[in-house]
Amino acid sequence: AESWDQVPLAPPDSIFKLTAGYKEDSFPQKINLGVGAYRDDNSKPWVLPVVKKATQILLEDPNLDHEYLPITGLPAFTSAAAKLVLGADSPAIASGRVCSVQTISGTGANHLGALFLSRYYEFNGDKKVYLSDPTWVNHFAIFRNVGIEPLTYPYYDPKIIGLAFEQLLNTLKTLPPRSAVLLHACAHNPTGVDPTREQWSQICDVFLEKGHYAFFDSAYQGFASGDLDNDAWAVREFVKREVPLLVCQSFAKNAGLYGERVGALHIVAPTQEAAARVKSQLSVLARSEISNPPAYGARVVSLILDNPELFEEWKRDIKTMAGRIIEMRKELYRLLTEEFKTPGNWDHIVGQIGMFSFTGIRPEQSQALTEKAHVYLTQNGRISMAGLNTHNIRYFAEKLDKVVR
Ligand code: PLP
Repeated sequence: AESWDQVPLAPPDSIFKLTAGYKEDSFPQKINLGVGAYRDDNSKPWVLPVVKKATQILLEDPNLDHEYLPITGLPAFTSAAAKLVLGADSPAIASGRVCSVQTISGTGANHLGALFLSRYYEFNGDKKVYLSDPTWVNHFAIFRNVGIEPLTYPYYDPKIIGLAFEQLLNTLKTLPPRSAVLLHACAHNPTGVDPTREQWSQICDVFLEKGHYAFFDSAYQGFASGDLDNDAWAVREFVKREVPLLVCQSFAKNAGLYGERVGALHIVAPTQEAAARVKSQLSVLARSEISNPPAYGARVVSLILDNPELFEEWKRDIKTMAGRIIEMRKELYRLLTEEFKTPGNWDHIVGQIGMFSFTGIRPEQSQALTEKAHVYLTQNGRISMAGLNTHNIRYFAEKLDKVVR
């Protein structure tokens, strides 16, 4: 029998390992700031009220069956999803240049987008993609899996705990023309640092000058600022200015549908005819990998997007989540600067956006927080703001204050 002796044991995924450590810990005040999922003020997962309503409608639908979806997904879902990210009045949608395919959440969209590029993008030399330094770690594996070498461009400057804008712009200018560059549409993971609109415009100028391809990853629309349109601004600006691009879209965070795996890949082509050819090939690729995507989550989301009342309710739910996170940022900032008078500058806590905050603490300080204070976070000092709440934030601030002193 095959012994599989040649298979090396892989290390466990660091985030999942962190969660396992947290679960084993019996300390009552333990805090999990590792995982990127929203939690309510009692540290519990939150089923959005609008999602409860939509699932109830589905449950009561006598015509609901469990047939396969089309290969490219539920048409009502993909078209509404395109409008959500590109804007209902998007010129690209109006001219039929957008091709949209339902995917296994944002990860699947990244994968399918990467796979498509590896097959059909006319790379300038070897197949390479440029990722922000740092980025969501899974980006590296996703591109490697399809034979595209991931390289990085400067993004975060630890000295200012902010955007390394000059280096970023200069690097984009020196990359070979027509390079594929991944951009986080909003709420950059893991730093929480986004370019300003003015900075986005300058980045867009360079993309146009150099003919770079923009691979947008949009995993947090609405979750960053609480406003869906605001968080899609950069993507829409690039579309308006006709940068060649694609968008990977996830409904995991903004609809709290993590486990349902609802997402889409949108490729904006130069012509309607090109979009049709692109879509035909995406369909071939999707067929060989998943045959067709899961139906349930796409049905839930399309009900919400297509019903004006449910859509308004969803926007309120998004504001609830984003609002709570923004409140936690303010409170943490207040505790550190006013109450504990923690040394250092903490402006970035309120300046950063979205689920995550880069605290700027060193790896050994992160480790001390975990080992001495039962606060679980990744070594890079990233904390999930959603893990903080009115009951645990003071404890966290006090312990953070201790480790930086
Ligand atoms: N892209 C980024 C930047 C993310 O942070 C995440 C999730 O953490 C994803 C994509 C994909 O998430 P999912 O596959 O759950 O939609």
